[in-house]
Amino acid sequence: MAPGGEPSGRPFADDHDELRASVAAHALAATEETDDATARAHIESCPSCRELAKRLARAVAAVPLSVDEVEPPERLRARILARCHRVRRGT
Ligand SMILES: [Zn+2]
Repeated sequence: MAPGGEPSGRPFADDHDELRASVAAHALAATEETDDATARAHIESCPSCRELAKRLARAVAAVPLSVDEVEPPERLRARILARCHRVRRGT
């Protein structure tokens, strides 16, 4: 990714796709600080990406909650443990 590269050759959409990708990564908190600044600057100047970042941030915030609500059933755990024992014996 080269910000401020030559404008010729590539359509604008390609650059925006890359920016969208860093906006998404930024929203998912998966970027390094350099990309972070680029994404943040773009979010401020691009309403559609601002909306995307908002939606992704909301989705990310919802993930830990939904994971928390799902408890593995005790039976499943027992079955997995039993299978592990069988594999260990090698029969
Ligand atoms: Zn954008």
